[in-house]
Amino acid sequence: MQSRAPRKIALITGGSRGIGAAIACGLARDGFDIWLNYRDNHDAAAGVAHAVETIGSACRLVPFDVTDPEKIEALLGTLLETQTPYALVNNAGFSRDALMVWMTQSEWKTVLSVTLDGFFHVTKPVLNAMLRKREGRIINIVSTSGESGMPGQVNYSAAKAGLIGATKALAKEVGKRNVLVNAVAPGFIQTEMTEKLPADKILPTIPLGRFGTPQEVAAVVSFLCSEKAAYITGQVIGVNGGIYL
Ligand code: NDP
Repeated sequence: MQSRAPRKIALITGGSRGIGAAIACGLARDGFDIWLNYRDNHDAAAGVAHAVETIGSACRLVPFDVTDPEKIEALLGTLLETQTPYALVNNAGFSRDALMVWMTQSEWKTVLSVTLDGFFHVTKPVLNAMLRKREGRIINIVSTSGESGMPGQVNYSAAKAGLIGATKALAKEVGKRNVLVNAVAPGFIQTEMTEKLPADKILPTIPLGRFGTPQEVAAVVSFLCSEKAAYITGQVIGVNGGIYL
C-alpha cells in the first residue's frame, strides 16, 4: 500500500476566538492540520479544536503566552524537533485603548509586547525550521490602525506599524529560501475586540457600510497560504471595506 504524504501544518497564534478561530477553520478546510495557540481560554480553544476536527483535520492545542519565551521554547521547541509548520499565522493581538495623555506605561508596554515581542518569540524558532525545509508562509495579522494611525490607539498603531516593517524586512531576508512573508490588515471586524465600539459613529466612515466578518479575513489568509499566492511576498493586504485606501 502506498503511504500518504504527510499533511501540511499551520500554526495559528491567538486561535481560540475571533479572527484566529476563523483562520484555523479556513485552513483546516484547505487541508491543513492545525497547531492552535491561545493564552488561557481553554474552553474556547477546545471548541475551535472540535470544529477543526469536524472538518476532518487534526488539531493540537499549544497554549502559551506569546510574550513568554521560556514557555514557547518548552512547548513549541519540542514540537519543532519533529515537525515543521508550512504556515505560521501571527494573529495573537491585544488592545488597551487610551488617549496618549492618559496612557499608562503598562498600556504602552503590554500592547507592544504582545504584538512585537510575540512575533519575534514565535517566528524565530519556526523560521529556522522553515529555512531548513526551504519552504514556508508567514502571515502577520496587522491592522488598518498601523497603516493610517488611529486616535486613542497610539500604542496599538505603533505596534501594528512595527509589525508591518518587520514583515517587509523579513520578506527580503528569506525570499531566496522560498519562505514568503506577508501581512493582512483588517479594518473593523466583528469580534470581541470591537463589540464595545460605537457602531453608529463608525459605520458611516466605512465605504462598504458594515463591519467585516472573521471569515472574510480568513479567506485572504487561506489565499496567501495557497499555491496561488506563490509570487506574493512583503505585501500588506487590506481587508477593510474601503476605510483605508
Ligand atoms: P480577539 O480579542 O477576539 O481574540 C484574541 C485572541 O488572541 C484570542 O485567541 C486570545 O487568546 C489571543 N491572545 C491575546 N493575547 C495573547 C497572548 N499574549 N498570547 C497568546 N494569545 C493571546 O481578537 P480578534 O480576533 O479581534 O483579533 C485577532 C487579530 O486581528 C489581532 O492581532 C488584532 O489586533 C487583529 N485585528 C483585529 C481587528 C478587529 O476589528 N477585530 C481589526 C484589525 C486587526 P485567549 O482566548 O486565550 O485570551
